[in-house]
Amino acid sequence: FTLLHLINADLLMLGVNAVLVVVMLGNAWALRRGRAPFVPFWTLGLVMAGGVCTSVVWQGVYGVFWAFPALFMLYFVLPRRLATVLALCQLLATTAACVVSLGLPTASRVFMSLGFVMVMINVVLNVIGELQQALVNQAITDPLTGAYNRRHLQAHLAQRMAPGGAAAGGDVLLAIDIDYFKQVNDRHGHAVGDEVLCRLVAAICARKRGSDLLFRTGGEEFVLLLPRTSLVAATTVAEELRQRLAEAELLPGETVTVSIGVAALFAGQTSDAWLRAADQALYEAKRAGRNRVTVDQTG
Ligand code: GH3
Ligand code: MG
Ligand code: MG
Repeated sequence: FTLLHLINADLLMLGVNAVLVVVMLGNAWALRRGRAPFVPFWTLGLVMAGGVCTSVVWQGVYGVFWAFPALFMLYFVLPRRLATVLALCQLLATTAACVVSLGLPTASRVFMSLGFVMVMINVVLNVIGELQQALVNQAITDPLTGAYNRRHLQAHLAQRMAPGGAAAGGDVLLAIDIDYFKQVNDRHGHAVGDEVLCRLVAAICARKRGSDLLFRTGGEEFVLLLPRTSLVAATTVAEELRQRLAEAELLPGETVTVSIGVAALFAGQTSDAWLRAADQALYEAKRAGRNRVTVDQTG
């Protein structure tokens, strides 16, 4: 269009188009470098809506064609809510411009078709969003028990312990391991062992706070993250949990117990060192005879 206006020597439109091209190139360059765009996209959206309306008033129905890609663009460069607000503005402004230049019957058709496109864009974005959420859930959960998996534990701790992350308030990890689980499998079979794992997760989830996060880190090994909890309170939780699980009849007619290692996060500790401290405490609990809670003393 810039070239076309140059050839036609239409200086006003040449200037408007050239400015838009420069702004878009600038934004593309900034985005490629990971920076915020020079001119926010909502401003460009408003300019675009204004351009479409002007075009409708000047050129009639030819201008209406541009309303459709403009609507699409809003949804792909702006957050959904802002895009919807601007899309509604564009829908109403384009319809008004059509009333002025093309009359009410055409304007009502433009309103209906643009509105329909807008609804369909939202439907498609909802479907994509749901698929994406399902994929994310699949990637972070253990399919057998529904607890979060080890990958999510690592990602969550990395995010939580990054500068400015939520870990500052004092968090505690419980490393939980079922005692003599191999014997459960050996005596009752793998399927029953799987059931025990599921019942254990259900029992822990029934006891934990909403903010506590449970991860399955290995076969019969779990980590419970207690955010913003003192070591004393966490040790009480661990002891209660151990007793409850022992009484929970995870295996009908038999007692299945767990050993728990408790480790508080201390200043400057890495997530790996923190997990190792909880594991070490768990190892001490196993060595001391199992079915007990041991607290990490290194912090
Ligand atoms: P300890 O008290 O020292 O923890 O003894 P343990 O038998 O619990 O520990 P060990 O590491 O010797 O054995 C763990 C067993 O867990 C071995 C394996 O058969 C079982 N296991 C690992 N993953 C699964 C699983 O997904 N399902 C079932 N049913 N069993 C599993
Ligand atoms: Mg075990
Ligand atoms: Mg184990």
